[in-house]
Amino acid sequence: MSGMRPTGRLHLGHYFGALINWIDFQSKYESYFSIVDWHALTTKQNTREVKANIWEIALDWLAVGIDPEQSTIYVQSAIPEIAELHLLFSMITPQGWVEREPTLKDMVKMLAANEAEAHEKATYGLFGYPILMTADILTFKGELVPVGKDQESHLEFARDVARKFNNTYGVSYFPEPKPEFTATPLLKGVDGLKMGKSYNNDIKIADTAADTEKKVKQMITDRTRIAKSDPGHTDICEVPWPMYKVFADQDLQATVKQECENAEIGCVQCKIRLAGIINEKFAPFRERREQLAKDPDNVFKLLQHGNIKARKVAKQTLHDVREIMGMVNWESLK
Ligand code: SF4
Repeated sequence: MSGMRPTGRLHLGHYFGALINWIDFQSKYESYFSIVDWHALTTKQNTREVKANIWEIALDWLAVGIDPEQSTIYVQSAIPEIAELHLLFSMITPQGWVEREPTLKDMVKMLAANEAEAHEKATYGLFGYPILMTADILTFKGELVPVGKDQESHLEFARDVARKFNNTYGVSYFPEPKPEFTATPLLKGVDGLKMGKSYNNDIKIADTAADTEKKVKQMITDRTRIAKSDPGHTDICEVPWPMYKVFADQDLQATVKQECENAEIGCVQCKIRLAGIINEKFAPFRERREQLAKDPDNVFKLLQHGNIKARKVAKQTLHDVREIMGMVNWESLK
């Protein structure tokens, strides 16, 4: 099980850091991929963009090959049972566990410039985000969550809550979700900082070939190389070389290294070639995305199909949870 917040069109970092692994997962496991729109509200006051962003993210997922026949693709807010499980988990989760979450501290820091602002912006919903994430996974009894090595701690919380539920009610109902470590190369944005929409330094899956080339040309290279006749240094080339390592095969990497270090190629020319490789890789996705965008009803139908599939599983989980807790299953009463 995995999910993404709908914050806008996805970039190359999302593709190589997550989607490429999801495509592999869907052929091996029963997979659930969620557009987690409630999570977008934890840090966002402008809720009007969320609907449009769900559309954009769905197009990106489908375009790159997340397949609604192989996996279940759904929108979090279409599954009210997740909210109910979040509430029930919040009754057994000690407040101290939530406050200890390192990701939460980072999110508050990003939101607020000072303590007074943090007091205002760190909402009850934001503090509940680790519990909501746990409900996302356990509503579908998720056993494996694809994560990079650096995100391992995210899952510890979910494991603790699953264990607490099982111990509290004397059952072994929820699995303790494990991380499935995936390769997540850290892609830098054109300015050499971490690639991100908010930094305005990203190359999007949906960008045109011309936009991509324009952005690639802005990439920071070897800052010590002044003239084309100066030998370059791939080890300190900030963005194009790490990108070559992701996009190019071994032979091309060897060629680039040799041409760079022997001053046989200038950085401009080198970046134009890189843009060509990126565009070649993403051209089929961009074409498919354009086709999908022409038929919005079909895209929403695909999402709705996933919502129905996911809800069926979620209803069963919540039915079981209410039984285990000794609550009333009102729908079952005649
Ligand atoms: Fe980087 Fe290519 Fe310039 Fe070498 S030639 S510094 S690899 S952009």
